[in-house]
Amino acid sequence: MGVVTLDQVERQIARGFRLLRFAPDIEAAFRKDYAAERVRLAAIWGVIGTLIYDLVYFGDRTMMVDVFTELVIVRFLVFTPFVIGCILAVRRWPDALLYDVLSIAIAVLGVTLPMAVATQSASPYLFVYQNGNSAAFLFFVIALRPRFPAVLVGLVLMCTSHFITTQLTGAFDAVTYSGIITFYVTLSIFLAVSAYFLERMDRQNFLNQLRGSLLYAQLEYNSERDELTGLLNRRSLARICARLWSGTPQSAVAAILLDIDHFKRFNDVHGHIEGDACLRAISQCIRDTADEASFVFRFGGEEMLVLSPIREPLTALAAAERIRVAIESLAMRHRGLEEGCVTVSLGVAFAAPSQVTLEGLLRDADSALYEAKRKGRNMVVLAGGTVAGTRVA
Ligand code: GH3
Ligand code: MG
Ligand code: MG
Repeated sequence: MGVVTLDQVERQIARGFRLLRFAPDIEAAFRKDYAAERVRLAAIWGVIGTLIYDLVYFGDRTMMVDVFTELVIVRFLVFTPFVIGCILAVRRWPDALLYDVLSIAIAVLGVTLPMAVATQSASPYLFVYQNGNSAAFLFFVIALRPRFPAVLVGLVLMCTSHFITTQLTGAFDAVTYSGIITFYVTLSIFLAVSAYFLERMDRQNFLNQLRGSLLYAQLEYNSERDELTGLLNRRSLARICARLWSGTPQSAVAAILLDIDHFKRFNDVHGHIEGDACLRAISQCIRDTADEASFVFRFGGEEMLVLSPIREPLTALAAAERIRVAIESLAMRHRGLEEGCVTVSLGVAFAAPSQVTLEGLLRDADSALYEAKRKGRNMVVLAGGTVAGTRVA
């Protein structure tokens, strides 16, 4: 199953779903949600349905005296264990198709078993008795609520079974029999139409909920991203900082503060649009070069910050140097400079979270960055004195 995007959901809402089918990815998500929801209720409905079904025992005892033993057997030794097996199966394999198939099986079996026994009865109460199956029709569509195609298949099979077994009892004249058929066909049509609209409503609710949660996720994502570069913004700093500062006491954190060299001149010579493109390219380069455990922020206009859980100061220095070299290797033209390429300066600070606050770490990184600028740019300075990189300007 692919990941469903907000765009896909918006398109599905606009296109509609008259045939009760979504585009494949959304349909797969719907099926999963549907299966989880139905399985959650399966045990409750299974117990209530079977209890009512088994309570007809008292009706069997008064109305169907001549086949009473057979009815006890089908209710308690066939139907009840079958329903328990179905509940266990859908809990073990929560799948939409399995749920629908087992719902049909329960409904058809529920209708067929007592009526099949009734074909052997000479009871004068068969008319009253066969009425009871209307409850099974209602239970199938309203309580079990399989998907619409399953409702159609189930109702057709239930009607077929009911009409055949009722006929086989030989207890009704032609007019009464056609009255029974009319009643069950009408009931089935009403139930089928309402099942269609119920599923439409279910699907509409599902889409609305999905849209809501995707919008929320996007909002949350956007609120922590810088629009131009896609890097984390300063608002997300507190959250990431809390995460890094709650790491194991042995771990340490490195802050790499990066500033583009002579960027004002770049804007003046190339224009702001190209300046923006340059910022994006550098941001992407930092993202590609920093390791997976690092968090890359746009800290200010043309200043980026990398926070990493790193054990050694020299590892932090090497990571910063890799970024510097990677940006230099982009060989982006800077017509405002004699040697003509965009470069960056970096200041690195390193400490154990227990010994420093974020502000303290950033202050040290900023001093190191200032030092890198002062010493001639396009270089890395580790707070405390170590320098890496080349001098160009
Ligand atoms: P230094 O080497 O000392 O860092 O010099 P600099 O010119 O890079 O530093 P300065 O702070 O004077 O200039 C930073 C420039 O960054 C000024 C500003 O126009 C530019 N800038 C900041 N944000 C953006 C942005 O979003 N887009 C563009 N195109 N330029 C930006
Ligand atoms: Mg700056
Ligand atoms: Mg700068």
